[in-house]
Amino acid sequence: MTPAAYAHLDLEAVRHNLAQVKRYAPNNKIMAVIKANAYGHGITRVARALDQANGLAVARVDEGVRLRKAGFTQPITVLQGFVCVDELLLMLQHQLEAVIHTHQQIDILQQQNGEPLALSVWLKMDTGMNRLGFKGSDFNTAYQQLAKCAIVKQPIRLITHFANADDLLDDKTRRQIELFNDAVRDYPGERSIANSAGIIGWPLGSARIESRAEPSGQTQEKNNDWVRPGLMLYGCSPFAGKTGADFGLKPVMSLHSRLISVKHVAAGETVGYSGTWQCQTDTRLGVVSIGYGDGYHRHTRSGAPVLVNGQRVPLIGRVSMDMITVDLNSQPNAQPGDPVILWGGGLPVEEIARHADTIPYTLLCGITQRVQIVEQVAADGIQAR
Ligand SMILES: *Cc1c(COP(=O)(O)O)cnc(C)c1O
Repeated sequence: MTPAAYAHLDLEAVRHNLAQVKRYAPNNKIMAVIKANAYGHGITRVARALDQANGLAVARVDEGVRLRKAGFTQPITVLQGFVCVDELLLMLQHQLEAVIHTHQQIDILQQQNGEPLALSVWLKMDTGMNRLGFKGSDFNTAYQQLAKCAIVKQPIRLITHFANADDLLDDKTRRQIELFNDAVRDYPGERSIANSAGIIGWPLGSARIESRAEPSGQTQEKNNDWVRPGLMLYGCSPFAGKTGADFGLKPVMSLHSRLISVKHVAAGETVGYSGTWQCQTDTRLGVVSIGYGDGYHRHTRSGAPVLVNGQRVPLIGRVSMDMITVDLNSQPNAQPGDPVILWGGGLPVEEIARHADTIPYTLLCGITQRVQIVEQVAADGIQAR
């Protein structure tokens, strides 16, 4: 018997998507972003599938510690760095790399007299996101201060983040790239700029190719800079109106449930909480065991597609905690127990996000504990975790 509601994860798709990142950014190292429980997919299982990435990135120290405790040994960057001495010590203990974005962090580092060169850092420049990082001359001051911290490994690496790279018409991204490149021009450390939208849409943000003459006389093209893909590893498009398939990506998660009731509702009756849907005709109504308690967004509007027996039918009425209702007039033979797909496969999560006035990130991250994860372990079998 299959579980009532489950998310099927295709980990081969993760490997495929990583290979796609390499095609978009062939001269870069890849820091695979697996924060927020790998965007809802499970941090350790996704990390295992990403063994071909050069490193991993998480948002918070506890996520990095969890990866170390699970045995992962590759470089792990903590995008928010540490906020206090205790967190710094945890990072040192677990060999986590810190993004440095505020003066308080530098104060803490200056007071350390531990092992020299123990901490790898990324100094963050704020190029217009106005979230984390140093701006203008503050950035250079921070660089000089960090360069004098005995505990900090040299050379210091340099990082910034795009604010609007998913809008290919917004010139801001080009200005962010220029601002960053100008500021770091004379610094030797590795750089990192691009997220998924940057990798796909703004190749200039990741393509710093350096030609060096080798002693043999040949020129060697080299780039030690890093890209930071998140969403595209999970098979989704960062651009509105597109899906991952448009960029050669394969969806990793599909969300499944089943019909638990089929009934008739007369024309004129309303369906569900607050009666937001009124049947215009006699309606064959299906009830599916999935709701916002599973992470199916409550704001998904009537008309959003749901796959019942592989065919699209419209969601009708409010999403409730444990159930949704669908119009089965196109499926006279549908009955309780029939399979339902909420997203994945033939139904891109990007499309459901549009019907819920949100972005695919929130839907993937929002899968709750109640949803069982079913992992594809081999071509011929699935295994529940
Ligand atoms: C989340 C995050 C990423 C990955 O972004 P995607 O849009 O998912 O590719 C990269 N860099 C930073 C700093 C992030 O916070």
